[in-house]
Amino acid sequence: MKKKGLLIVVSGPSGAGKGTVCSALLKKNDFWMSISATTRQPRTGEQDGVNYYFLTKKDFESKIKNEDFLEYAEVYGNYYGTPKQYALEAIGQGKDVILEIDIQGALKVKESYPQGVFVFILPPSMKELKHRIISRGSETPESLMTRFKSAYKEINYVSKYNYAVINDTVENAVETIQSIIIAERCRVDRVKDEILNSKEGIINEQLYD
Ligand code: 5GP
Repeated sequence: MKKKGLLIVVSGPSGAGKGTVCSALLKKNDFWMSISATTRQPRTGEQDGVNYYFLTKKDFESKIKNEDFLEYAEVYGNYYGTPKQYALEAIGQGKDVILEIDIQGALKVKESYPQGVFVFILPPSMKELKHRIISRGSETPESLMTRFKSAYKEINYVSKYNYAVINDTVENAVETIQSIIIAERCRVDRVKDEILNSKEGIINEQLYD
């Protein structure tokens, strides 16, 4: 049986830099990044099928009915969801899959897929988080306030995750997540079947010679 890949769920408050960290992580590693579906409008430069699958509310709701999503959530008045089929197929093929999703979505995935690796990205300080949200320049004053307020609340959810990673620099955050993934691949509950039941007996021989 082929060894399954890991499902790595990355979330954190708006402005913590999870998008930048995940992009950098993908450049350096052969991970499979899930492309989410959303009903929000594309931002300048965003492409359908690259950044998101941009759907109408009607299409999104029909996919909810069809149970096409691993999870979905309403974030800032729009739907966001992880298409189920591609992510599960990739994991089955032994690929490590990254989901960059909000906290509500991550907690839903944790219920249905507790063997996932749940990583919470934190800003180095709340002052820096505010600065990052403002300097992105893509928000209206109202949506800025919404994002600040929810960021303060969201920080508390760190306790539901397996790992907290401080994004002081993207390089440090990427290195830390890579280390987490290496360690997770060695967890006894993930590898014990492979070690004890290896058909070829290669691992057993190596262990007991
Ligand atoms: P943005 O509109 O800035 O691209 O994303 C807003 C929020 O939605 C971010 O916190 C992002 O992580 C989250 N998000 C993106 N895709 C998904 C998804 O598929 N599911 C859930 N639950 N959240 C998502």
